[in-house]
Amino acid sequence: MTGAAISKGHVFVVAAPSGTGKTTLCRQILAKDKGLELSVSHTTRKPRQGEEDGVHYHFVDTKRFRELVDADAFLEHADYGGNAYGTSWNAIDQPLSEGRDVVLEIEVQGAEQVRNRQEDAYLIFLLPPSLTILEDRLRGRGTDDEDVIQRRMALVDRELEAAKHFDFAVVNDDLGVAVEQVLQVIGAVRDGREAEVSAHRREPVLASWESKAGRG
Ligand code: ADP
Ligand code: 5GP
Repeated sequence: MTGAAISKGHVFVVAAPSGTGKTTLCRQILAKDKGLELSVSHTTRKPRQGEEDGVHYHFVDTKRFRELVDADAFLEHADYGGNAYGTSWNAIDQPLSEGRDVVLEIEVQGAEQVRNRQEDAYLIFLLPPSLTILEDRLRGRGTDDEDVIQRRMALVDRELEAAKHFDFAVVNDDLGVAVEQVLQVIGAVRDGREAEVSAHRREPVLASWESKAGRG
């Protein structure tokens, strides 16, 4: 079970509709802030070319994943695109107990579970500049078939609804700007200067995004 109650580091969750750019952004924030560690998730998905067990994911079969769920080994877990994904307590407890901050790059349902189970986690929602640009990015990435892209776009309304439970929101328009904004949030939380990043709190960012990007 968890040792999170005695933790010293912070948990930062970065979640977003698929294609917004969370993988791209997390790679950059981890390269720039050496105090951050990426949580390595479990998944039942098969490794892609170049992916290593224990580095990119802990690759397990469905039976093992189910055993871990039954043993309450996960802080959160969710099904996504036909595969199961989960963040184990083990993935976060060691870095946290050693005072290191952990980043969870996960999809939105899992982030909502973190909200309920780890109240002191900081949830950062990454927004696309608009839904049209989101669809363009999914297509431009070239990793998904058209039906997968349409299924991912169909989830977006519900994902945006979930953004209301997040602490902070950042629009990933210019990548460099978004990276700096997320790093500012992380730095401020670490140093107890959260008031200085109130402009990045979810409420004003979502209000401005909805008025500009709308839902179309
Ligand atoms: P996610 O992990 O949220 O599914 P990715 O990081 O895979 O998204 O990014 C989706 C696509 O959008 C990729 O092709 C990536 O290079 C591109 N991308 C990410 N951020 C930006 C940005 N700020 N501006 C333009 N393209 C971006
Ligand atoms: P991929 O299969 O492309 O690596 O990941 C698919 C989706 O699952 C991405 O949105 C990724 O962020 C998310 N994901 C990766 N690990 C986890 C996890 O541990 N929990 C949850 N809920 N989602 C995850």
